[in-house]
Amino acid sequence: MDYSEELDLIKQTEICKNCKNIVYGKGNFKSKILFVGESPGRNEDEQGLPFVGAAGKNLDKLLATVGLSLNDIYITNILKCRPPENRNPSKEEIKMHTPYLIKQIKEMKPAVICSLGNYATKFFISGCKVDGMKDQAGITTLHGKVKMIEIDGMKIKLIPLFHPAAIIYNQKLKVEWERDMEIVKKEVF
Ligand code: URA
Repeated sequence: MDYSEELDLIKQTEICKNCKNIVYGKGNFKSKILFVGESPGRNEDEQGLPFVGAAGKNLDKLLATVGLSLNDIYITNILKCRPPENRNPSKEEIKMHTPYLIKQIKEMKPAVICSLGNYATKFFISGCKVDGMKDQAGITTLHGKVKMIEIDGMKIKLIPLFHPAAIIYNQKLKVEWERDMEIVKKEVF
């Protein structure tokens, strides 16, 4: 697929002008499960790969506890460039970076999207409309709840999960994460 128009939009944003690498994704693009996080951090920016820092190491561990690895999923982010000081993504940045994500979804055709944390969850729940994100419930309410969404005519199951970074600081969420992943596994395997 040709991503040049979508890449042009990303390149127009200030965060892209200031980052070291555009972070596209990693894992198995042929798998049926797509994980979507928020935005690259410092380590991700340095290496050009998502989830390689503390959150990523925790994600690897979490996946292993449910018998999965990077070979079973593909993972990317809402934003493809690191916001300075890891601040939250702005509405404008989400608008400019997510056409690329939508194209990735069209090409990959996942059966399940696992949105990690609030930003990705609110984005998909609001029908990929950035202006509707503020009205959506948060991850504490929505995690583990399967919702059928439609992206460009494709029906996909959305299963929100707690963000692996949040689980580092609150180990109680690990049990919930493992329970939610059993739902994901049932849908796919
Ligand atoms: N957190 C995210 O949401 N994405 C990354 O790539 C790293 C940390």
